[in-house]
Amino acid sequence: MRLFFALLPEPMLSRRIADWRDAYLTAQGRPVPVENLHSTLAFLGEVSPHRLEGLCDNVDHLLGSAHLPGGSLKLDQVGYWPKPGIFWLGPTTWSSALERLSAHLRGCAGAAGAMSRQQRFRPHITLFRGCRQPPPAPASPPGFDFPYEDISLLQSRSTRHGVQYEEVANWPLAPADSHAD
Ligand code: ATP
Ligand code: MG
Repeated sequence: MRLFFALLPEPMLSRRIADWRDAYLTAQGRPVPVENLHSTLAFLGEVSPHRLEGLCDNVDHLLGSAHLPGGSLKLDQVGYWPKPGIFWLGPTTWSSALERLSAHLRGCAGAAGAMSRQQRFRPHITLFRGCRQPPPAPASPPGFDFPYEDISLLQSRSTRHGVQYEEVANWPLAPADSHAD
């Protein structure tokens, strides 16, 4: 099964982001369906189903032993990665707590025998895929608050109707720190 850890916006926030995209962005690419908007924390890739329980146990243990709080991202920037052809929305800065969370989850991925190639973590929500040209700047700049208080383990499936994500597990994070680390 193809797995990844992600932060999921509330449906209302996803709707607002998609509406803003559809009104103000003109990328020559495939818009990501509103129900698929997410921010990946750690990509696992193919994991054997019999390792799922051990993976979830590791995350239970991690969240029980390390202080990993929720928080909020200010989505105030767009960016373009030419190689994968991705046009994204993301924060300019993020907390070291979120950085730590991603690193720990990548560690859990490695322990589950999944791909643990260390890529730099860059929180982002993909808005369009398959963009061959850098898209023009949005006609109205973004400024969304993305609060997060839990993490999801998602299974990605390719279907006739495109990729679909299904939540396999979910964990609450510790209450957000009152100050940004
Ligand atoms: P599709 O590949 O069908 O266009 P997708 O990219 O949304 O759709 P997946 O490839 O299953 O679906 O990816 C799930 C999530 O993991 C996405 O956020 C994707 O950007 C991220 N991801 C996929 N491959 C990698 C990788 N090699 N390294 C880091 N993140 C990845
Ligand atoms: Mg992909």
